[in-house]
Amino acid sequence: MIPDEKKPVPWGLPPLRAEVQRRRQAEAESSANSEEKGSTSPAAADRKHTKLAMEDYYKVESNGYTLLQPKREPDVMSHPKRMIVFLVGMALMASAVLYIRFVMYDPRVIDPSTFSATTLGTNPDTLETVDKLLRAGFDQSNTVAWDRLAEMTDMYGHRMTGSKAYDHSAEWVVKTANSQDKNLTAYTEFVWVNQWTRGSESLRLFAPTRDTGFIQVPLLGLGNSVGTPRDGIEANVIPVHSFKELRELGNASIAGNIVLYNFNYTTYDAVVQFRTRGAIEAAKYGALAVLVRSVTPDSEFHSIHTGSSTRATIPAAAISPADANMIERIYTRAQTSDDIPRVKLVMNARLTENAKQSANVIIDLKGSTSPEEIVLLSGHFDSWDIGVGAMDDGAGAFLAWEAARLIALESRPPRRTIRVVMWNNEETLQRGAKAYYKQHEHEIKQHKFAIESDIGVFEPWGLAVAADPKMVNNLRNYGMDLIKILGAGNVTTSDVEGPGTDIAMLCENGVPCAGFLSVNPENGAVPGEPHWEDHYFRYHHTNNDRVEVIDKHQLRRSAAALAAWAYLIADL
Ligand SMILES: [Zn+2]
Repeated sequence: MIPDEKKPVPWGLPPLRAEVQRRRQAEAESSANSEEKGSTSPAAADRKHTKLAMEDYYKVESNGYTLLQPKREPDVMSHPKRMIVFLVGMALMASAVLYIRFVMYDPRVIDPSTFSATTLGTNPDTLETVDKLLRAGFDQSNTVAWDRLAEMTDMYGHRMTGSKAYDHSAEWVVKTANSQDKNLTAYTEFVWVNQWTRGSESLRLFAPTRDTGFIQVPLLGLGNSVGTPRDGIEANVIPVHSFKELRELGNASIAGNIVLYNFNYTTYDAVVQFRTRGAIEAAKYGALAVLVRSVTPDSEFHSIHTGSSTRATIPAAAISPADANMIERIYTRAQTSDDIPRVKLVMNARLTENAKQSANVIIDLKGSTSPEEIVLLSGHFDSWDIGVGAMDDGAGAFLAWEAARLIALESRPPRRTIRVVMWNNEETLQRGAKAYYKQHEHEIKQHKFAIESDIGVFEPWGLAVAADPKMVNNLRNYGMDLIKILGAGNVTTSDVEGPGTDIAMLCENGVPCAGFLSVNPENGAVPGEPHWEDHYFRYHHTNNDRVEVIDKHQLRRSAAALAAWAYLIADL
């Protein structure tokens, strides 16, 4: 510290300065004396001053204090010792910087020194709140989202569109948000929905070699499927592996039989067509029904996955990969027509078109200065009628709710409104998304961004964005500079993963959109990598889709990350 000579310092002036000051004073006194003797021209006074200043450096003798050295230009490099001191100094400084950057640096704190051009000008109040929201992800004591998901699913079970359970669950969310969540307003908007009920169903594989004479094969009718006649359908089973094979076999081999689609699972998107279109295609060749290998990477597991199918004239049901393989093995070993696998399929499925009005659930946090502008966060509320739909997509819907709740706890709401939408009827006809679009058609342009999560909520990863390249790039910078703290700052484009079925209409009509994505908790695979979605598709549309599939801390961290993204977008 350099003492300010204008102010008294408690320890006095350093000896050297004190000496200089004393001598200056002496010179001033002697100068005053000579002025009295008549030497008064200003030029002479200046010369005297110059001389005095020179003397400060060159002519002061030691008198018990340190000798003043002639002033020299700094020439550090000319002296080897100084060179070493200089280099050691630089090395120390560099290691201090590196230590601070990589060792002391707390990754949980937003560090403006790392900002890119996009983020540099961001309002400090926005940054402060984003930082706080991200920190909320580390609050181990907050398990609100998971606890709510568990409570609702424990009380009401699944949320199949058109079911009473769906309506009770929707009422519970509205009541809970309005009574417990500060600053949030929950309400419903009505949607006309169909109601499909599976009724009783069974599949018997005749097996003379077994003690009972048959194998009871577990199955799940596919959504929207027609039922069988009351007595069921009894027929031989013909396995195929592709639509091409089906065509090649044609009427001659297919008519009067049941088709089994037993494909190799590669990715969900590649093979889901057998579930959705399998019945329609097989009906063209006179098939009586179709059985579809469950669409899942669990080839070794005995799990059965239902899902939507396009309603055809013939029934469709899913069986486990293991049973599909067994039926195909029996077919391959058959020596005579008597050895061909034969089944009896009974399905009492019923569909009622426009059965009732049911709800989209909406929760708003009003924006502070532009409340008419909306940043929409969403997941779908409906599920299949098996399991409880905790993962698909209870977690996505409650992720959005928890993100809004976390934002609402902050002292400063964002400029724009945060709107949570829990969509009805994603699983079959997206009636919820269509009804929302119709009801809000006049204000679609006020929707400034829309996010959906419907591919599982695990450790947060980031966004798959469908927007103009400049916005994608800006979001990428924000992700790298800010949201990286929770590992959720990654931004990819939506060709890796679509933003979401329910927000598709908004995206197609100019609203920038994103899917909120997670890391695969089994193998750490991230979006775009092989097997990234495998964990999700193990539980998807099964009886195993229970709240245990979701980790409460991962759900909280994802909610904090989504909250940070949403706040940023809503406040910029
Ligand atoms: Zn879903």
